[in-house]
Amino acid sequence: MDRILTIGSTGPDVSQVQGLLNRRPPTLFPPLKTDGVFGPKTAARVKEFQRNNGLKTDGLVGPKTLGQLRGASVAPRTGLLCDNPDPANLSSGLAIRNSLVSSGGPIGQVRLAAFSFPGVPAIRSLTAFQINTAKNTYGGSLDFSRIFITDRKGAGGRPFTIAVTTPVTGTIQVMNCGTFTPDQDTLIHELAHVWQSQHHSSPTQFITNAVSSQAAAVAANGLEVSRDRGVAANADFPVHFPFSAYVFTPGKAFGEYAAEQIANAVEHGDGAIIAHVRSVGVGVVDGANVTSLATTRIGDRRTPGVVF
Ligand SMILES: [Zn+2]
Repeated sequence: MDRILTIGSTGPDVSQVQGLLNRRPPTLFPPLKTDGVFGPKTAARVKEFQRNNGLKTDGLVGPKTLGQLRGASVAPRTGLLCDNPDPANLSSGLAIRNSLVSSGGPIGQVRLAAFSFPGVPAIRSLTAFQINTAKNTYGGSLDFSRIFITDRKGAGGRPFTIAVTTPVTGTIQVMNCGTFTPDQDTLIHELAHVWQSQHHSSPTQFITNAVSSQAAAVAANGLEVSRDRGVAANADFPVHFPFSAYVFTPGKAFGEYAAEQIANAVEHGDGAIIAHVRSVGVGVVDGANVTSLATTRIGDRRTPGVVF
């Protein structure tokens, strides 16, 4: 059991708290020396952290403050985790592509909905209701004639979206949403990936970015647990805690978010991001989208103000 730390305490547990405080913005104070000596500067940081996090401002580090510092009680997920960052889905995309190609020439993109392929759940167009729902968020920025949906789901049991280019169909996007209807959040989130595909010169760049960003989060989480074993107590460790590809800080420019951050922002109704999405016409390669998908990005869920 952890002892309660206060002014005058010394030892490695004090050093650990000083290190944790240094990684917890915002702060008005300079970084603490991690010398294992609990003095007035450490106490001031502890009180500031307690104030920022709704804790009793007593400057003592007991179980509640330590728990918060370790991030054991950060807000749970408020949206969808899709399966695009899962590399296991790349083979699924390939299977769908191969089925489309091997099924031969007569498949026009408009008639795709009428076909089902061996080993691949029936591919169909969006319903009128789904298109109307989509337009509420995306306006006229999507080419619905190229968007298809299947009941397949990702390796992690979650929805994922792929872009497929074949000689008979050109590039189409296929949302694989399982047997969920899909619900509004799933539809809006996966359509963000469709949008990323339709407005980039490389229609699969959103997948590359999602996979690399999530891999970076897992690597960062592995490093973090070697510094602070407490993070392993969070149920989302090691894939989505403390770092995750979905975490974003509202208020940045479109190009400063990566693939899952954009999809998460649209899903959460971020006004500025949605305004940008709606401003791009069908068939246009969007510079901000190209910038967005060029960089691997992750966010730290312990940072105040982030959205996960
Ligand atoms: Zn996603």
